[in-house]
Amino acid sequence: MPHATMIRDPIGSDEALSLLGREAVSFMDGPANSNRSPDMPERAYGIPFLGVAAGDDGYWDSITQVAGERHWRPLEAFAKAFPDSGAQARDLSVVVIVCPQTDRTMADHKAAVGFPSERWIRSRFFHDLIVGELCDHLAGYLNALGYMAMVPDHLADFATYPHPRFQIASTWSHRHAAFAAGQGTFGLCDALITKVGKAHRLGTVIVNRRFRPSPRPYTEPYEYCLYFAKGGCKKCLPRCPVGALSEAGHDKTLCGGFLNSTTPIINGRFPDLEGAYGCGLCQANVPCATRIPGPLAAKRAG
Ligand code: SF4
Ligand code: SF4
Repeated sequence: MPHATMIRDPIGSDEALSLLGREAVSFMDGPANSNRSPDMPERAYGIPFLGVAAGDDGYWDSITQVAGERHWRPLEAFAKAFPDSGAQARDLSVVVIVCPQTDRTMADHKAAVGFPSERWIRSRFFHDLIVGELCDHLAGYLNALGYMAMVPDHLADFATYPHPRFQIASTWSHRHAAFAAGQGTFGLCDALITKVGKAHRLGTVIVNRRFRPSPRPYTEPYEYCLYFAKGGCKKCLPRCPVGALSEAGHDKTLCGGFLNSTTPIINGRFPDLEGAYGCGLCQANVPCATRIPGPLAAKRAG
């Protein structure tokens, strides 16, 4: 296998990660990345890119302090898949994959008011078959090279649970992993604002190989959000059809209620999307939809 010798380069090599990135791009150029509609023959998600956090980054302890002990540290998740590996936290890398929504989806969703666009609904509904399979593919790619790699949210005991502060939390947060991997900071609406904005899907792979961690060019969790930077913006608030966004943040209960209410309407319009739900209106037609907003944009867009 030609990749095997190419990727087995010294620890810390940027080239090894770029090879993995190319594998991700190649997968997303393929048939899995589809909205599965004859009316939408184009790709469902744009070109993915990767970031890395070290398995022993101090941020994992911070997450656990905030989200509670049910949130896994990378080694806890890894050990569930590979209980006999003997790996230490310092041996692991957390590779985060960012899959942006496409320009076409964003154009449709920008125009949508009160109810999500079909392109958004479809990319949301099929994301397990697209981003989820991309993560499985990358883990398989690394496993075939002799590493141990796994996808934390594909573990059998991955779960969401009620949380006193966040209403709902999960045993693994892609958004926090992406924050740790230098990919962006949170917005007032809870989404992660990255260099391509906050309209994206995230995935994670944990592997027992040390890649060089990505730079984290911020210090505060909400640094890229204009509301927290300047007290202004709040453009995401009126985008929400049920008032789930306010200066107090994101009311997940209201949001979840609206998401559930979309299912019968979606099923009536698109019979092939049984059980689908969606919204994401707060992620389009706002300054942080497709970029880091404001004065940090040019500085952090690289
Ligand atoms: S729309 Fe404005 S207030 Fe809302 S998350 Fe984006 S930058 Fe922050
Ligand atoms: S996803 Fe929809 S319902 Fe939830 S906060 Fe955003 S706009 Fe509101």
